[in-house]
Amino acid sequence: LPPLDGLGQLLPRLSRRWPDRTALVTDERTLSFADLDRESSRVARALQDRSIHPGDRVALFSQNRWEWIVSYHAVLKAGAVVNPLNVMLTGEEVAYILADAGTKVLLASGERLDAVGDELRAVPSLEQVVSFDDCGHQVEQFSDLLAVDDDPGFTPFPVDPGSLACIAYTSGTTGRPKGAMQSQRSLVLNCAYAATMHGRTSDDVVITALPAPHVYGNVVINATFMVGGKVVLRKRFDAEDTLQCIVEHRATLLEGVPAMYAMLLASPALEDADLSSLTRSTVGGQTIAETVIDAWESRSGVPLIELWGMTELSGLGTTHAIHAPNVRGSIGVALPGVQVKVADTQDVTVECAPGEPGELLVRGPIVTMGYFNNTEATAETITPDGWLRTGDIATHDGQGHFFVVDRLKDMIITGGYNVYPAEIERVLIGHESVALVAVGREPDPVKGEVAHAYVVLAPGQQPDADALIAHCRQHMAAYKVPRAVHFVDTLPTTSSGKLIRRHLRSSATANA
Ligand code: ATP
Ligand code: MG
Repeated sequence: LPPLDGLGQLLPRLSRRWPDRTALVTDERTLSFADLDRESSRVARALQDRSIHPGDRVALFSQNRWEWIVSYHAVLKAGAVVNPLNVMLTGEEVAYILADAGTKVLLASGERLDAVGDELRAVPSLEQVVSFDDCGHQVEQFSDLLAVDDDPGFTPFPVDPGSLACIAYTSGTTGRPKGAMQSQRSLVLNCAYAATMHGRTSDDVVITALPAPHVYGNVVINATFMVGGKVVLRKRFDAEDTLQCIVEHRATLLEGVPAMYAMLLASPALEDADLSSLTRSTVGGQTIAETVIDAWESRSGVPLIELWGMTELSGLGTTHAIHAPNVRGSIGVALPGVQVKVADTQDVTVECAPGEPGELLVRGPIVTMGYFNNTEATAETITPDGWLRTGDIATHDGQGHFFVVDRLKDMIITGGYNVYPAEIERVLIGHESVALVAVGREPDPVKGEVAHAYVVLAPGQQPDADALIAHCRQHMAAYKVPRAVHFVDTLPTTSSGKLIRRHLRSSATANA
């Protein structure tokens, strides 16, 4: 791969090498590398004309669509800083993030502007709003940014690899999102890692419904572009839609979070789907049960490669190399040039022995430059010698393979025992009646707190809480067994499909 100082230089190179190759397929439009390059240059110039200077923040706010991808590259080409927003955020949350990041320009879908428009008035830094759609708002249209009379081209602003490229707010799974500062280098490296570790080539057709503003989605998209591959980008995840797209586009690589694979396996359309074009698939973002891995691998006939990552790492931290044997249940090995260790949560200079749980720490060029505007959170998260405290509890096997146990914040302390919800979820998903499951905490007058399970039934199954409790008793120590099982239609998730355990509430849906 040619060296790149930043992702702003990616499209000009790709467009020179493969101008006519299809880069991006969406329902609305199919774009070649030349299209993506030309249009992002026009938007970059338009941003410059609207007094966007290198270092200024530009936010993007929509579902997956081609305008989002064009805009992302335009902002980087202009030397400005991307501020990608989670599409599910409320007006109040968007206003908080835009003000926190000091964002000057917002590019958004008409539908998102309808939803949050009024709140934007309260953002002092915001100078301009551009709509991707022809909507009723008194704002500029994206089509105006694309339309130019003459097209002199655009040379990407030269950037220092160590400079700020993106302020990405964390998923907010465990609390208020924090703005992780991602360097130019960390973005380029992550794409190179995802390209090489997962064996991407220019023949790949990658299908994903991961949201582009999320690190996982971003890496999947740009790593595929980096090698000249094609991305089939879906607006949102739907099992039938995914299966149909795999068949229609002869997809070679599917990438998603665990819930997506669980939903594919529960879909009646899976039986007749022709998955023969797939050569591998990846999963990350959350703990996945081995039963789901087994079921997907046996049905699809391709490996499901686990990866682990964070916004604070601009994407991946560990994964398996395509040609190395996948160690069951492992999130993989450290990436080249990145150090990963498991250490005592009280004193992170003390490393844990193989099998002993501790906090996962990462050091290297992908680690965030810190949280924007938040020196306190930065100091709590990055040690003076550069280790990122991930907040994840993990083990290692002494051979370089890592295993995530759960998030430290989600640990339930019941009667003095530590219980990890992920462990209970892994057991319950192994029961035939369970399609999706989440375990949350409930206060308890005697034990402090107890675990409750929330179950979405597999098609055709009847709710039977006693059977599920008995299944747990059989597979785990008594203190870990959930106190109650609630049957629900859906589970609370982030836009990337990650479970939000703190939004699980027993009172609304009690059933056991
Ligand atoms: P917030 O930090 O705002 O609470 P978040 O941590 O969910 O949100 P992300 O940066 O999107 O925000 O997610 C990173 C986290 O996702 C990791 O710290 C880890 O807990 C979890 N994760 C990612 N990959 C895996 C995996 N393969 N197995 C288990 N957990 C994973
Ligand atoms: Mg986090």
